Amino acid sequence: MPTITPSLEILRHTFGYEQFRAPQEEVIATLMSGQDALVLMPTGGGKSLCYQIPAIARPGAGVVISPLIALMEDQVNALRQAGVAAAALNSSIQPREIRETEEALRSGQLDLLYIAPERLLQDRTLRLLQQCQINLFAIDEAHCVSQWGHDFRPEYLQLKVLHERFPAIPRIALTATADPKTRLEIIERLGLQRARIFTRSFDRPNIRYHIHSSSQGARNALLRFIRDRHDGEAGIVYCLSRKRVEEIAAWLQTEGLDALPYHAGLSADERRRHQQRFQRDESVIIVATIAFGMGIDKPNVRFVAHLNLPKSIEAYYQETGRAGRDGLPAEAWMHYGLQDVVQLRQMIQQSEADQQRKQMEGQKLDAMLALCETTQCRRQTLLSYFGETLALPCGNCDNCLTPPATWDATVAAQKALSAVHRTGQRFGVQYLVDVLLARDDPRIQQWGHHQLRVYGIGKELSANAWRALFRHLLLRGLVEVDSEGHGGLRLSPLSRPILRGEQTLTLRQHENTQSQKKEKVQEIPAGDKALWEDLRQHRRALAQTQGVPPYVIFHDATLMEM
Ligand code: ADP
Ligand code: MG
Repeated sequence: MPTITPSLEILRHTFGYEQFRAPQEEVIATLMSGQDALVLMPTGGGKSLCYQIPAIARPGAGVVISPLIALMEDQVNALRQAGVAAAALNSSIQPREIRETEEALRSGQLDLLYIAPERLLQDRTLRLLQQCQINLFAIDEAHCVSQWGHDFRPEYLQLKVLHERFPAIPRIALTATADPKTRLEIIERLGLQRARIFTRSFDRPNIRYHIHSSSQGARNALLRFIRDRHDGEAGIVYCLSRKRVEEIAAWLQTEGLDALPYHAGLSADERRRHQQRFQRDESVIIVATIAFGMGIDKPNVRFVAHLNLPKSIEAYYQETGRAGRDGLPAEAWMHYGLQDVVQLRQMIQQSEADQQRKQMEGQKLDAMLALCETTQCRRQTLLSYFGETLALPCGNCDNCLTPPATWDATVAAQKALSAVHRTGQRFGVQYLVDVLLARDDPRIQQWGHHQLRVYGIGKELSANAWRALFRHLLLRGLVEVDSEGHGGLRLSPLSRPILRGEQTLTLRQHENTQSQKKEKVQEIPAGDKALWEDLRQHRRALAQTQGVPPYVIFHDATLMEM
């Protein structure tokens, strides 16, 4: 029998888990012995326990620096439910509660204190911490210190003061971004030269990835997939809404499958029963919203299916990662419609999050789309997102097994990029397409752009094909939306190799990119013109005041400037 250490005791009694996952136990031991640690582990890998357990086990409180208020709130709530004395200090907390938290910290009653970096760095806070017993500093989402990453937070750069002001207190930095450059930056900028480094690969070689896009037939495709490949096996089907969960679960039942719904709208009792049946039985299919997953550790889930686009690669990785934990072959299958993209973008724009978070979420969605649209090996693409390299294509994913129809879009991309450049990097897609097709847009004459070399050089493609191409250029970061200016497109440094002909661009051919019917979608019936103009103006105003992208992506993958 293994000895029950205090850490294991906390894992079992406070958190209700049986065993540590690699490398949690060693990370905890490192901190308990007073050493620093750097932890690079996939999302959902279990990084939080690495600092929560030692913070609880040792006298005093652990201080956790976290970049997002929402993340802090989730963690504090979960900890409180488990009976841990946890609190947060950030700009959304009322003064009275702040005083209570500070008092609890001074009198040694707190186990974990979550704090926003800007608050931590205030002199007042640093002085307070110096008067209290602090047992560790955890810097979560440590890649925010990287100026080259998407999530850069200038305050993170100043976290080096922790090392200077509290040299005796062990520090742990955690991130799911593991590329070597970011890793070095974290070590350098946080002064973690003596930290022990723990990494776990993101690769899941036993998972076969498939991603399909089309606006119709998802239900039947799902049924065929389950019947043909996973008859009588356990799986999870993720949907975006509760309503859709109910609908799909009921429909699978009428088709004779053992499917159960799971979402936050069901009673606690029902959720528990469904989860237990899934956990115990061999062949239950859970149809769920993303509410399902916390604490699920069923080894023999043979497939995870998505009927909608997840909002980020991290979410996709975490959800598909619930398949094949036993190491045996498993499948991650997704069917999404491009209207998912529109819906997700709207959700981001209409949420109450601050501008910075919206922007971050938009970029995460773009990365997810790039994974969907890649013609390369899915596993290689997925791993490269996390900074790992897989030397050869996996030979097992949909793209490896059935290479998708593609076209060489290099020349078209060069034309599109030149149009952006020659018109001064300030126009939106609609205008650029008009220039490429030599359409009679009065603005073209006004700007004298009918005299440019790019005027009318794009007649080999339809307007829709051009819009789809611009969308790819945006997705791949070759052009950027200038959100400070008028929301026009500008070139990014990534476009240079394409313009110079040093790099080619191969794109996935969409089933119906160029059909006549789609062209009609964009036409505005005369009677609606006023309404449309209103909508445009509203959207432009939003673009200017709130940085909302000044374009709409239609379900046929075309992009329309507003
Ligand atoms: P990360 O921060 O790495 O993305 P989290 O710390 O949020 O991951 O953990 C992800 C999930 O894994 C949580 O639901 C957590 O409770 C669960 N988890 C963590 N460690 C274990 C463990 N040893 N056994 C079972 N579940 C665990
Ligand atoms: Mg985390």
